[in-house]
Amino acid sequence: MVDFTVAMLRIPTVNPPGDAYEDCARLIGARLGECDFTVDYPVADTRPEHTATHPRMNVVGLRRGRTDRPLVHLNGHFDVVPAGAGWTMDPFGGVVKDGRIYGRGSSDMKAGITAAIYAAEAIRRAGIPLVGSVEISGTVDEESGGFAGMAYLAQQGRVSADRTDAVIITEPTDTDRVYIGHRGVYWFEVTTRGRIAHGSMPFLGVNAIEHMGVILDRMRRELMPALGARTTAIPVQPLGARHATLNINGIAGGQSVDGIQTPCVADLCRAIFDRRFLVEEGFDAARAEIVELLERAARDTPDLFYELQDLMIVHPVKTPDGASVVSALDHGAQHILGRPLLKAASPGTYDHKHVDRIAGVPNCVAYGPGILDLAHQPDEYCTVADLVQSTKVLALAVLELTGTN
Ligand SMILES: [Zn+2]
Repeated sequence: MVDFTVAMLRIPTVNPPGDAYEDCARLIGARLGECDFTVDYPVADTRPEHTATHPRMNVVGLRRGRTDRPLVHLNGHFDVVPAGAGWTMDPFGGVVKDGRIYGRGSSDMKAGITAAIYAAEAIRRAGIPLVGSVEISGTVDEESGGFAGMAYLAQQGRVSADRTDAVIITEPTDTDRVYIGHRGVYWFEVTTRGRIAHGSMPFLGVNAIEHMGVILDRMRRELMPALGARTTAIPVQPLGARHATLNINGIAGGQSVDGIQTPCVADLCRAIFDRRFLVEEGFDAARAEIVELLERAARDTPDLFYELQDLMIVHPVKTPDGASVVSALDHGAQHILGRPLLKAASPGTYDHKHVDRIAGVPNCVAYGPGILDLAHQPDEYCTVADLVQSTKVLALAVLELTGTN
């Protein structure tokens, strides 16, 4: 299991742009084949991000039991975010040291793909015949929305209510947690438009950056405290993410600070915002609140003109109470860890939304090896002990969900 994880980590499947996907898909597919899965490679060739140099290749393996159903689908994404600065070792070297497997994508989430494959393989090597069937997929592009990955498999009907009974996404969940959903996401862009004039006579123009400043100030003084006071009843971890939040992702206005300096009043300013909303708030109210703030700023400030553009909307998801996938993992954890799993919701979004919304399979959670806080960080690692333990819990959950002869 360690060797296979290391082999995946040595393939730098960095997204963006989506490097070496085919190599990693074929590595996973070959191992699935050795473990008696029937393997194919769905390529999302209808997606604009699929190109000749960066093909969007996924991999799916199916091992039939006595019957097609119940079908348990285990999924992991094999794209990773760029290494970034601050590493004390080669992020794609596959270093194993002191019981830890280091590398970009170790926790998030190549160890999870290993856990899925070896949970199924442990059942096979133990000679236990299954009633239902097991399917394992490695998918692309989760870090950029999953549209050519899990969303594509769902649109193609590969993961769908017509054939799939339960989905476990083996994202890192800190050993003792199961993720039963996530908050909603509203990404939007605000543009303020002013009027250009000579910088020595700013009173002759309208400065778009100043007007963006008015909007940012209102967000900081009025909106952010209001959001921080709202709490969801869903057990989001960490606790800070149990509130509604707003982040300013980026801002650009006026002349380029790196370019040739010219004395001009800025006539344009654009900023991108990331609003995470609670299931209790809902998208419509979250957006209306932004519109209302912008309208008030425009009313109170002479010549403030703005445009609002929606960039991405992800509605919150929540696994239904009493879902069999939760109880199966709980029973597995009871055997292996001696206690049931902590039920948590994720601060961020992941492929759960596509399984729920497109595939129509609400019986879905995230559970797998690795430490969520280490995702996207330098010196990311997953411990070997966690990998082995999660694999055992997954194997027991698969046995319960598929049934045994
Ligand atoms: Zn992930």
